[in-house]
Amino acid sequence: MIQETKTFECRVCKSPNIIRNGTNRCGTAQYHCKDCGTYRVLSPKPVYSETDKQTVLRAGLERCSLRGVERIFDIPRQTVVRWISTHIQKLPTVADTLLPASPDDILELDEVWSFVLKKADPRWLWTAMCRRTRQIVAFAIGDRGKATCLRLWKAIPDEYKHCHTFSDFWTVYQHVFPAETHHGVGKETGETAHMERWNNTLRQRMSRYVRQTLSFSKSDLTHQMFTQWFIVQYNLDLSLTI
Ligand SMILES: [Zn+2]
Repeated sequence: MIQETKTFECRVCKSPNIIRNGTNRCGTAQYHCKDCGTYRVLSPKPVYSETDKQTVLRAGLERCSLRGVERIFDIPRQTVVRWISTHIQKLPTVADTLLPASPDDILELDEVWSFVLKKADPRWLWTAMCRRTRQIVAFAIGDRGKATCLRLWKAIPDEYKHCHTFSDFWTVYQHVFPAETHHGVGKETGETAHMERWNNTLRQRMSRYVRQTLSFSKSDLTHQMFTQWFIVQYNLDLSLTI
């Protein structure tokens, strides 16, 4: 058996003359110092610097699962999730990250498979990429049917709606995208090559899109949140290099 004895002293006056004093509203143990009279938390939570936070956030975008982040940085998962959701709320929308459209821009479309909670519960990520800027101009997550395709179409900003679009032969596209500008093509034509390559990037960088992954989203909200984060950051990084 291993027993460890930890000695606490007053954090204000360093006196050992302290007694337990229940818990605060968050359930953290408190003490009362009989010498200086203070009531404080026994073991205060560590304060993380902004640099720590940024490093942890970047790790979340580099195929690192939440549990992985927790193990590497020794920061509770709940704390990481809180940072991520605060960070995501402050991010611009996908449309706000886009460079101005050109009259002859072309969009490449594709759907990529993933799942929420279990493999029997697939979620398709539909994306539209601008061939010139390589930015993701819109995305939608859902089933592989018309409703999700329609959400993708609606998510495409107006200034990109005139673009010619290329996708595989998945029939749903033909029912949603305008016949005058949409083209269903085979992979061998290379017309959707950039979009397909991006899917590989996504699978390599986001743990929840890796095939055979053990790291997956437990809810649609998390799935949407992480995907949006990845796309917005991807677009922002691109707009800095163009
Ligand atoms: Zn004291």
